[in-house]
Amino acid sequence: MTNQSESKPLYDVAVVGGGPAGVGVGVALTHAGVENFVILERHSVGSSFALWPAEMRLITPSFPTNSIGMLDLNSIAIGVSPAFSLQVEHPTGAEFAGHLRKVARFFELPVREDMNVRRISKEGDRFLVHTPGETIAAKHVIWAAGEFQYPRMSGLEGSHHCRHTATVANYEGLVGDEFIIIGGYESGVDAAFHLAKRGKRVRMFDTGAPWQSETADPSVALSTFSLERMRTEQFREHVELFADTPIKSVVPVDGAYKVVAQNGRTFRTMSQPLWAGGFVGSHKLVRNLFEQREDGYPLLSEQDESTTTPGIFLCGGTVRHDDHIFCFIYKYRQRFAVVAKAIATSLDLPAEDLEVYRDWGMYLDDLSCCGDECVC
Ligand SMILES: Cc1cc2nc3c(=O)[nH]c(=O)nc-3n(C[C@H](O)[C@H](O)[C@H](O)COP(=O)(O)OP(=O)(O)OC[C@H]3O[C@@H](n4cnc5c(N)ncnc54)[C@H](O)[C@@H]3O)c2cc1C
Repeated sequence: MTNQSESKPLYDVAVVGGGPAGVGVGVALTHAGVENFVILERHSVGSSFALWPAEMRLITPSFPTNSIGMLDLNSIAIGVSPAFSLQVEHPTGAEFAGHLRKVARFFELPVREDMNVRRISKEGDRFLVHTPGETIAAKHVIWAAGEFQYPRMSGLEGSHHCRHTATVANYEGLVGDEFIIIGGYESGVDAAFHLAKRGKRVRMFDTGAPWQSETADPSVALSTFSLERMRTEQFREHVELFADTPIKSVVPVDGAYKVVAQNGRTFRTMSQPLWAGGFVGSHKLVRNLFEQREDGYPLLSEQDESTTTPGIFLCGGTVRHDDHIFCFIYKYRQRFAVVAKAIATSLDLPAEDLEVYRDWGMYLDDLSCCGDECVC
């Protein structure tokens, strides 16, 4: 077999994705003393946030608490606070994308944009990261390509007739007076809120009732931001909730849509149904390099490394350990230093500067601390 990578520069690390996870772990790599790395981003830094529906805001609040030693919940690096720089408590996606671009520039991260990684292979002790125009060789890879740009389009019969909420540019532009939303977690509630605000009638269906959940973990229950929105007069007046009503199929009929529930009830709507059915995630592109958990997420070592292919790590909202879900920034940022330390150790770098991450709650290397109710 020929070695395709022989003449190429060999990076110590290739990070795939320039979202909060890729940028945040990039900053941690610099603190760990790793210099020879690259961040490969398919569009531009923060592009998942730039693609959010215009009205959508971060549900986690930002507050300038850094001065008392508590990192802003939406901060991805020590000393950084979106509350301070943006002066907004719940930034829009566009605002947060702009913030991420500034962080990447401030830390002088080696980002290469327009690098769409299609697949990764391993040849000997190096990874080959394949993009349409170029193959990058690296000793380690950090997969941080997120979920948002990989929406789940399956899940019910005829789901392709629906519009996934991740593809909505703005709710103001949606034509119609009444809407059906399938999925009642954060994205569904967000869509319902913005449509109700515009006086549209909404029927929202969910297999359960996330708005009634009593768990304390916002990775499973609705956030306070969404619950507060659901109590507004416009929401209560315009949105009809259908709990425990899984939808079986969506069928176009005579210019309208027939939405059939598993309990046999049928609903008709003139507007294309909105599908808030979650994400398959980018990790499907690197399935060959990770063992899969039963829920489809990659199985990870205690350092968030693949259990089957040493040298490739996962960062961001798709990190799972047992029942612990690291889907928010304030959760998964605690693993940046763990990954950076593991890579630095493999490169014989001392990475002493990472110790300060502990003082800021940014270094979670003992997963036994995560209780059942309030994870991480
Ligand atoms: C509706 C919704 C609301 C959310 N609200 C919050 C919130 O309020 N607070 C919070 O903390 N979290 C929130 N999250 C979770 C949120 O997804 C994450 O915090 C954040 O987006 C995850 O960061 P990431 O870097 O892992 O992924 P992303 O932000 O998706 O970044 C991944 C980056 O990788 C790039 N990329 C993708 N594929 C490739 C490829 N093949 N090659 C190269 N580059 C690629 C993308 O362009 C993107 O820039 C929300 C998620 C959703 C779906």
